[in-house]
Amino acid sequence: MRFNHTAFWIQIHNVPLLCMAAEIGLLLGSMNGDVREIDDGGTGDCARKYIRVRVVINVDQPLRRILRVDVLRDGQESMMLLRYERLPEHCYRSRRIGHVVRDCLSVVESEGPEDYDLLFGPWMNVSSPVKPVL
Ligand SMILES: [Zn+2]
Repeated sequence: MRFNHTAFWIQIHNVPLLCMAAEIGLLLGSMNGDVREIDDGGTGDCARKYIRVRVVINVDQPLRRILRVDVLRDGQESMMLLRYERLPEHCYRSRRIGHVVRDCLSVVESEGPEDYDLLFGPWMNVSSPVKPVL
């Protein structure tokens, strides 16, 4: 693995069809990088409110915070939110890992109305779910 590629668990929230977790996880995860693992909650019966995918990401690229995909193939795009588990120090402005926003030197281009700063912040970084004790 090259040094600028790191594997993360990404949580995909707001997925319309959680019952298809593995398929959707693969589809959506591969939009971010190489999918290594998919955690659909174990039972595959929509038990959880999100899908976890372990994805190898090029950290030189901006992190996606939103996916817009027509997952139901009905002509309607769904907006899904991405959360990154155990994300190291990163910049909310340029969406790069390795520096914080006050050290940011990037010139950031506007990406459109969905990319308001409020949509991007500490909420993206979450801890891993606790495994249930069986
Ligand atoms: Zn930055």
